[in-house]
Amino acid sequence: MKFGGTSMAGTERIRRVANIVRRQAAGQNGERNQVAVVVSAMAGETDRLVNFCREANPMFDPAEYDVVVSSGEQVTSGLLALTLQALGEKARSWLGWQVPVRTIEAHSKARVQTVDAAAMIESMESGEIAIIPGFQGVSENGRISTMGRGGSDTSAVAIAAAIGADRCDIYTDVDGVYTTDPRIVAKARKLKAVTYEEMLELASVGAKVLQTRSVGLAMKEGVRVQVLSSFLGDDSPPADDLPGTMIVSEEEMDRILEEGEMERQHVTGIAHDKNEAKIILTRVPDKPGAVAHIFEPLAAASINVDMIIQNVGRDKGETDVTFTIPQTDLPRAQALLEEHKGAIGFGRIITDDHIAKISVVGVGMKSHAGVASTMFRSLSDRGINIQAISTSEIKVSVMIDEDETELAVRVLHTAYGLDAEDAA
Ligand code: ADP
Ligand code: ASP
Ligand code: MG
Repeated sequence: MKFGGTSMAGTERIRRVANIVRRQAAGQNGERNQVAVVVSAMAGETDRLVNFCREANPMFDPAEYDVVVSSGEQVTSGLLALTLQALGEKARSWLGWQVPVRTIEAHSKARVQTVDAAAMIESMESGEIAIIPGFQGVSENGRISTMGRGGSDTSAVAIAAAIGADRCDIYTDVDGVYTTDPRIVAKARKLKAVTYEEMLELASVGAKVLQTRSVGLAMKEGVRVQVLSSFLGDDSPPADDLPGTMIVSEEEMDRILEEGEMERQHVTGIAHDKNEAKIILTRVPDKPGAVAHIFEPLAAASINVDMIIQNVGRDKGETDVTFTIPQTDLPRAQALLEEHKGAIGFGRIITDDHIAKISVVGVGMKSHAGVASTMFRSLSDRGINIQAISTSEIKVSVMIDEDETELAVRVLHTAYGLDAEDAA
């Protein structure tokens, strides 16, 4: 079981969580379940801690940043254990280094390598509920590490895989995965199931309901994941009845479709991302190697480039190159490009962080033409200008002005027939 920040925000909410955990541990017909619970920091807490780091030292050391920002989860894991104990349950916290959850690679974006859950499993077998702070692990050199924002989802899937859990229930503030963010489109529809592949793509283009890495890990390890709400009354159906959204394999999805429990749509969901920035380099020489000169220094600095367009060459053997990167990397990228200006040989750098990426995702588009053209037509009918396009086998993304984000998502949701029928 994993509970997100909104579910853990304050002792009152933690008491609700404790009751959900207690109910799951009690089981349905007298047979107790062994449960491990992964928790997030209270909503807003990690942002607050990140700000302290920025104030203390804008060029912060990632290892010390991890020491600070991982602390929110230490608080909530202890509080949940205390609350469960107050309800008469046996429970204890297992900090990242105590499990241990071993991670590799960079601090602040560590990846889980192994989880040695033997001691924790033994304690669970003795009837103790295990509470694990999400987001944190221990690095190769024995220091605390964190797994990137939203990383508690990945902690939960890693723990579920390590203990061979029957299921990994991700409790959050919405009751499942929707066709798009239900906070933007009131007519969004809850999905009974979504494939790992689609969820991976949706998460990677901005549907923050699950951290992208958690979906990749679940797919690799075959972990059954359910997304469901922690804000339901005691009379709501138990998690074992699968009231939320299941993340499933293609084969399981085929069965669900065959049994008529869901309709196959060409587009499964729509996501948006306002966290990218656009860079235009003007008058880049239109010759072999020019593009490599631009992107090599960015890659060396671990700056991820997403969309790229190279405009048609002008008459003087020059061209403009446009691409997007995470907004947070914009100052660094700009400095690097200026530094390599001689080698690249461009005219000017133009930047714009007032952009958004809108993506439509669906396995159904593999076998159906016209998904992209529907997107372009619907946006142009509303006067929304497309600044860049990128595609994969199951996704089409466009870059637009940030002010038009909500409108674009709504228009596309209707255009692909995703609007819920009963919604106003
Ligand atoms: P938690 O703190 O529980 O990890 P998050 O805020 O990280 O919760 O993720 C849940 C949020 O994801 C929801 O409140 C919702 O606004 C957002 N969201 C974005 N896209 C979707 C989607 N397609 N379906 C459901 N929720 C979505
Ligand atoms: N507390 C961390 C964050 O806000 C991790 C998480 O909640 O998943 O990013
Ligand atoms: Mg989250």
